[in-house]
Amino acid sequence: QAVITMKSLCKFYEMGDQVVHALDSINLDFKLNDYAAIMGPSGSGKSTLMNIIGCLDTPTSGTYELNHQSVAEMDDDELARIRNREIGFVFQTFNLLPRLNCLRNVELPLIYAGVPPEERQERAREALIKVGLGDRITHKPAELSGGQIQRVAIARALINKPSIILADEPTGNLDTATSHDIMDIFGSLSEAGNTIILITHEEDIARYTRRVIRLRDGKIESDTRP
Ligand code: ADP
Ligand code: ADP
Repeated sequence: QAVITMKSLCKFYEMGDQVVHALDSINLDFKLNDYAAIMGPSGSGKSTLMNIIGCLDTPTSGTYELNHQSVAEMDDDELARIRNREIGFVFQTFNLLPRLNCLRNVELPLIYAGVPPEERQERAREALIKVGLGDRITHKPAELSGGQIQRVAIARALINKPSIILADEPTGNLDTATSHDIMDIFGSLSEAGNTIILITHEEDIARYTRRVIRLRDGKIESDTRP
């Protein structure tokens, strides 16, 4: 069943008297367990598409349904609510707080959500165990390798039990072996029932996914399941 459905979705930007068609009539579905890479040259619309999928932005026209909720007409408060419930974000730069240990970094989203301390810590510990960091719970980011730091960031993205994980160049700052570990973690998360969508410009990284969507000039150039 589709968790994401986009129909005739457009995003236009007005630049003086010019209109940039960042996304031009996109029709796209994502299903539960999809593990997809979004590729394409610079300016092809990858970030715009991820921002819309992640409910950080809304389309100019067309429809976007996320778990059967119509997102296209939502206001900022509704977007924030659906984002917190449905989406986990992982970035190239890990965005961890350096003074906090792993457990504290991972539980941060739950503090904002008003979850009581014992439950927060239990859930943060579970998420860290899930990404193989059960023995690094009290370490601070500076005491971890790049790959371990990215795993903490993934654990934090998982903490609200989102259905969808969005990742923007999640292996961009990692060496090859570590990148492959991270891609394997995403692979097991997708098998466990998450929808994983990531932007990458590396064919070697895209190979780890089960679906490759290529954008060009705001349109889908190809959508393959190798
Ligand atoms: P990519 O992530 O593939 O590099 P983007 O989604 O960032 O592509 O951009 C797609 C197109 O939309 C580009 O032509 C870009 O210049 C334009 N664009 C993106 N964001 C804005 C914005 N906030 N204002 C104006 N134009 C934008
Ligand atoms: P690009 O992929 O074009 O280099 P970035 O990776 O800097 O762009 O960011 C992609 C988008 O994700 C941006 O439009 C930004 O609004 C959003 N973003 C970046 N960091 C965060 C964050 N920590 N929390 C929420 N949104 C973010």
